[in-house]
Amino acid sequence: MIHRTPVIVGNWKMYKSPAEGAALAHEIVAAVGTSATPDVVVCPPFVTLPSVSDALLGTTIALGAQDIHWEETGAYTGEVSAPMLAGWCTHVIIGHSERRQYFGESDQNVKRKVTGALEYGLVPIICVGENLAENEAGRTAEVVERQVRAAYGDVTSEQAVTTIMAYEPVWAIGTGKAASGAGANAVCGINVRGVLTDLFGENVAQRVRVLYGGSVNPENISVFVNQPDIDGALVGGASIIANDFVLIVENAS
Ligand code: PEP
Repeated sequence: MIHRTPVIVGNWKMYKSPAEGAALAHEIVAAVGTSATPDVVVCPPFVTLPSVSDALLGTTIALGAQDIHWEETGAYTGEVSAPMLAGWCTHVIIGHSERRQYFGESDQNVKRKVTGALEYGLVPIICVGENLAENEAGRTAEVVERQVRAAYGDVTSEQAVTTIMAYEPVWAIGTGKAASGAGANAVCGINVRGVLTDLFGENVAQRVRVLYGGSVNPENISVFVNQPDIDGALVGGASIIANDFVLIVENAS
């Protein structure tokens, strides 16, 4: 059986100015900045990356961005590319449901971004998940499997092992209604890892870390990390409350 180190990722969304972000990072560092496990990644807004990067110096906490453009440079007003971010961070969230829902992020663009991130050594944290209507129509497997296949369309096996997947049912994000542990585990195992097995074989699929995201908090994190096919969590709201995030990290270890 392959051992996968659990990882807790904080998605700060559009919260925390550079000064506020540094203060939050210092609080997190003081509590869990030298923990051996789980792996911890925080993903502030672009402009907050430098101040948080300073605050994380000499710690075990990694830094991630929340999105990238797939091109290296170009006339794409408002966008930031992988090589521009590679000097600041090691990870990048790609295909978050808020990007898909509010900014027209397509499966095709997710694929290009995943490929762009990997080209520059960034670890893509690839988000997939069905919305409420799709869930109620019994289409979870179809939607999640389509999103996973698309995201890995141009990825090699060697690259795939370095990626992180996050199953985030849209109906659970920011709603306080988390999925059940067994339900999330089934999607992570069958529809996410199952497709990875089909694409890259068992050995690669067993090494990819698959996270659950959606209303994770200090009380329910253990339900998720104790599932065999869930290797940690992508945390939104609770990741910008220092005490909550620290408790989630501690309860996941
Ligand atoms: C997220 O933004 O990825 C997320 C899971 O949010 P929340 O934890 O607030 O549901």
